[in-house]
Amino acid sequence: MPAQPPSLIEFCTAGLRARHEAHHYRALVPTRTLEGAMIERGGVRYINFGGNDYFGLSQHPEVVAAAGAALQINGAGGSALLSGYSLQAESLSHALAQAKGSEACVLFGSGYLANLGTITALVGKGDLILADKLAHACMIDAAQLSGATLRRFAHQDLVHLERLLAQRQDYRHCLIVTETVFSMDGDRTDLAAMRKLADAHDCWLLSDDAHGLGVMDDAAAHLRLGTLSKGLGAYGGYVCAPQAVCDWLINTARSLIFSTALPPSVLAGAQRALELLYSDAALRTRPLHHAQRVAAALGIADAQSPILPLILGDAEAALAASQKLAEAGFWVPAIRPPTVPQGRARLRFSFSALHTGTQINRLTEALHTHGITPHSHL
Ligand SMILES: *Cc1c(COP(=O)(O)O)cnc(C)c1O
Repeated sequence: MPAQPPSLIEFCTAGLRARHEAHHYRALVPTRTLEGAMIERGGVRYINFGGNDYFGLSQHPEVVAAAGAALQINGAGGSALLSGYSLQAESLSHALAQAKGSEACVLFGSGYLANLGTITALVGKGDLILADKLAHACMIDAAQLSGATLRRFAHQDLVHLERLLAQRQDYRHCLIVTETVFSMDGDRTDLAAMRKLADAHDCWLLSDDAHGLGVMDDAAAHLRLGTLSKGLGAYGGYVCAPQAVCDWLINTARSLIFSTALPPSVLAGAQRALELLYSDAALRTRPLHHAQRVAAALGIADAQSPILPLILGDAEAALAASQKLAEAGFWVPAIRPPTVPQGRARLRFSFSALHTGTQINRLTEALHTHGITPHSHL
């Protein structure tokens, strides 16, 4: 007799037990965003070093006012191809295209959906996707859903990429996918060099600018994806590309066709945020300067973006360091496998224009006091 299959509850309970034992268990904690860079979780207030609101635009009075002024209806009422494509959507896609110097731009429900819809609309069975080893999960999910052959090149390793390109052979389309600023490592990609390789092998280059908006120029990529949910402090995703490519996506990207459009209020807030970001050079560099100060205090390589990783090794060490900082009033998430590779668990600091110089000083003092260094094993 074959063994009885586990019940649904047994299956989940056993899986959760394994996650607990490996220190990979995750739970949702209701979090309230307060003014400045403060948050409240479980009744405790922290200085937040775990957000993606790099320029503080989610709470900028002009952004909130613009969103409020557009809130005649809640929701969009339909997908973009039916009745959901609002005047605000039209206006924001033009503003994004203009800001990026691109011919056109298409909006999606989120960055995840933009990757899913774009990649599956352009490649399929018989095609090749070459992805950076650390490319975001949504690019990998999209690659798998597309049915194309997926191969990974070592992180930022153009020599390895070129070796894989040399084996491009009989594949019909070839798509290279990467991030402009890597979400867990904060390092920047040399898109211009990658574009040269792409052109030399008749490949298309797709970059995801989720963490690079306002920090990096992604003009070298054919397909310039991004999100409205990080630097712009709103919600939604987009792809900037030549008009014909955008029209193709509107006609074929399933995550755009079969999902409701973004609400006008969110879009109006994102547009005001975009205008503020592109008109204020000091705002764009402020979070990077915070990251550079903390990197110098830790004695690690200079920060290239507002994201600063401090690699501590195993999940337990990263959790212990995060816990110590939390007790001292700093919210710095521990990033563990499977989000990052085994043995590369880390603290991930993300800096915001909302942080004050005093808050940055307090953080560096706390790191010193608690002996949190690149080599600590707490
Ligand atoms: C956050 C992120 C996404 C997902 O964007 P959402 O708008 O949150 O869905 C996609 N790609 C990268 C690189 C990201 O960091």
